[in-house]
Amino acid sequence: MLDSIPVTDPTFAAMDRAIRHAREHIAGLDSRPVGPTRSVADLRERIRVELPREGIDSARVIDELVQATAGGLLGCSGGRFFAWVIGGALPSALAADWLTSAWDQNTALSATAPALSVVEEAAGDMLKDVLELPRETSFAFTTGCQMAHATALAAARHALLRDAGWDVAEQGLFGAPPIRILVGDTRHASVDRAARLLGFGSRNLIDVETDSNGRMSPRDLQARLPGGSSPAIVVLSAGDLNIGAFDVFDALIPIARASGAWVHVDGAFGLFARVSRSKRDLLNGVELADSWATDAHKWLNVPYDCGMAFVRDVDAHRAAMTVRASYIEPADHARDPIDWGPEFSRRARAVPVYAALRELGRSGLESLVDRTCAHAAAIVDGIGALPGAEILWRPQLNQGLLRFASAHPNATQSDHDRRTDAVIRAINETGEAFFSGATWRGMRVMRVSVVNWRTSEADVCRTIAAASRALQSPIAPPLTGA
Ligand SMILES: *Cc1c(COP(=O)(O)O)cnc(C)c1O
Repeated sequence: MLDSIPVTDPTFAAMDRAIRHAREHIAGLDSRPVGPTRSVADLRERIRVELPREGIDSARVIDELVQATAGGLLGCSGGRFFAWVIGGALPSALAADWLTSAWDQNTALSATAPALSVVEEAAGDMLKDVLELPRETSFAFTTGCQMAHATALAAARHALLRDAGWDVAEQGLFGAPPIRILVGDTRHASVDRAARLLGFGSRNLIDVETDSNGRMSPRDLQARLPGGSSPAIVVLSAGDLNIGAFDVFDALIPIARASGAWVHVDGAFGLFARVSRSKRDLLNGVELADSWATDAHKWLNVPYDCGMAFVRDVDAHRAAMTVRASYIEPADHARDPIDWGPEFSRRARAVPVYAALRELGRSGLESLVDRTCAHAAAIVDGIGALPGAEILWRPQLNQGLLRFASAHPNATQSDHDRRTDAVIRAINETGEAFFSGATWRGMRVMRVSVVNWRTSEADVCRTIAAASRALQSPIAPPLTGA
């Protein structure tokens, strides 16, 4: 059947160029520098061309796009990228993502994407299954975890105000009973923005103390929960971005529940620890929550962008999101994605998820999680053993922290901070590996995050060797002293 395609269609010329360039990009991941090699100014000069009056050949558009962006693409789909929490793309997920574009189905409705709405249904159910979330929960595929927060918190807002006799869909938030959001003080900033988008206001976000292991204090949670019937949402963390800390769900959720609060879990990557027999205890009791947000574009290794929201109160979820118009035909026996997510027209972003889950299977998913955790520990131990390095957080999951102290006898905290940033830069400049910095408990640190399916033991060795060279070489600027 494939042979019968007329080869004169210009789409094929462009696609053939794209596949060649994509192959080169992926084949070169091992040998190209992991970080960017061109400045933004340089990239602007190449990319910001005048829009021509007459268009150009589609295959040439692709060739020139590749030329113009060269040197400005991170090697984050390769095995030696450890900055932020950015996963790669499994082979079937990447290929399925291409097909998703070729099929170009508007996945708002079953009517506009009959097969792919079913794929979404299947992918959602498989995820509930592997993450062991309650069978009855509803779900949405969003652009990422932040919009999954927004979706779940909109459902929470709907349910809490409904129970207080207020229809937020009709009456809005003006004049509604105030809702407090209690959240750990080391939360991800996407929780704040999701809350802000929903009109909660940052003043209604209340910090709850976390302990030295990054876990929310049950005592402080209890103290800050509003009394009486005041509505509240408690946002817990399944894997925080610096140290991968997990709140103690089976202690905290009953406390929140006893006061009638809605419990939402930020599990952007950490929810996937549930698939690992050696890590799953970190998530004990997580299934008691009311809603969960996670990402497929991190640990599941599907291409950007894809997040997921799961909500126990199906009616509140649907009521918060559904929309009707005369030209939208509600599907009787089908699931319309538009009823569950914040978007109208959209891409069938569950397709790569379906592919990734089938490619991995349960055991592949478990070994992906276990392997990346082991690599994270090996990198932290390996670099941490080098002279001048210090381990601040040895991974219990896939996130670790290192610091590089200034050797100057009178060095101050800010000298150590500067030295840490300089070493990160020096390692990145080797082109062998790529890390990012963060400020953690008032100190500059180097974060080590391993979420890519491609990372191998050889990558770990190359990374440690590169760090060793960077620490010895004069690239790292001399100590500044006081
Ligand atoms: C990445 C991340 C988010 C935000 O997810 P997006 O997909 O970027 O919207 C939220 N929480 C945690 C813990 C994260 O790591």
